Amino acid sequence: MKVVLQNLTKIFPSRNKKVDEEVVAVNDFTFEIPDGKLIGLLGPSGCGKSTTLYMICGLQKPTSGQIFFGDDDVTELAPENRGVGLVFQNYALYPHMTVKQNIMFPLENLRGEDKLTKEEMISRAYEAAKLVQIDELMDRKPSELSGGQQQRVAIARALVKMPRVLLLDEPLSNLDARLRLQTREEIKRIQRETGITTIFVTHDQEEAMSISDLIVVMKLGVVQQIGKPQEVYDNPTNLFVAKFLGTPPINVFKGYVENGKLYLSKAEEKPAIEDDAAEIVTENANAIAPSMKPGLCVLDVPGIPDKEVYVGIRPEGFVPNPNGKFIASLSNIEVMGRDVSVVCKHDAALSPIVRAIVDSDSQIDADAQTVAFSLKPHKVFVFDAETEERLYFEVK
Ligand code: ATP
Repeated sequence: MKVVLQNLTKIFPSRNKKVDEEVVAVNDFTFEIPDGKLIGLLGPSGCGKSTTLYMICGLQKPTSGQIFFGDDDVTELAPENRGVGLVFQNYALYPHMTVKQNIMFPLENLRGEDKLTKEEMISRAYEAAKLVQIDELMDRKPSELSGGQQQRVAIARALVKMPRVLLLDEPLSNLDARLRLQTREEIKRIQRETGITTIFVTHDQEEAMSISDLIVVMKLGVVQQIGKPQEVYDNPTNLFVAKFLGTPPINVFKGYVENGKLYLSKAEEKPAIEDDAAEIVTENANAIAPSMKPGLCVLDVPGIPDKEVYVGIRPEGFVPNPNGKFIASLSNIEVMGRDVSVVCKHDAALSPIVRAIVDSDSQIDADAQTVAFSLKPHKVFVFDAETEERLYFEVK
């Protein structure tokens, strides 16, 4: 079932009539969620993820805009008539009921043509329980289950009515790290097996990236970017998205572009030297301490006009190279097995440390004061310093 959100907007009115402090929780969200896909709605706290989900399931009424399931306009439909299954963060199971009774509960209220016999209900409950692999725990009470098992019961209860759309609101938040990993794989499997269009809300980028077919990144009620996880990671449309996706996070620097060349340093530190002279400084770079080297050209960025920028460099975008133009003070090297994490400092960095992830075979002198890298151009993103929107350059 495809789900279409059309100019969906939710404004919460001000509680205080004298002060105009209405909240635009979701602002003009338009998107067609393809049939049978798992969509991750992702963003920091307060960005409007849950409000979007609640409008889709009918618990919140949009201020404007429309919602379609297939060709049906469900904008005005009550939640129980939409055919959605909803799973919350805090499972919300009935403590006095067994697992079987909890799963069957949504079926008890079916009326008219949809009404089921007791046997049909039990059979449907077992089907759903089998799907989430808890069919052997049907006679237990929720208090006799682990957190992960309780969450599976909640998912089975959402699936038992065979929903047209499955909505999951931070379903893994209450689980410990190991169970989170396991349960997110389970959710992906269940979604694949059932083919139910699923919308998954999370603030955890790793979680969203690992299981979603498409991710929607939101900020302050506004959709920033929609795409396949890898595409969004490789091609962030603005600084917010670049910073939000990736562990360890992207390294961000102040810089400027001049004559198609990218320099890492503040504009006011720019040396009054010609391009040729800058290249000479670059070649002698290893002989000078990093703080003495404003204006080092780190990359050619043809196509970007002269301006102040932010420069994002993914940790995997650094290649150890004694002649590299990116030079930083070395703090320490963390061994991670296959890779090593080179922790360093750079004057133009916005964060106290810069982290480069490089192959463990790389020859880096752990006792050296500085470390030099060349940069992989496709791992370097340039953003307008004012708008924070991406500025594209030709990668040669
Ligand atoms: P979280 O991850 O913390 O749950 P979220 O991204 O799901 O955050 P929402 O819960 O959708 O964010 O909230 C979006 C904005 O709307 C926030 O600024 C929030 O304070 C506001 N908001 C949500 N519900 C209401 C409400 N009932 N009345 C007024 N403002 C609300």
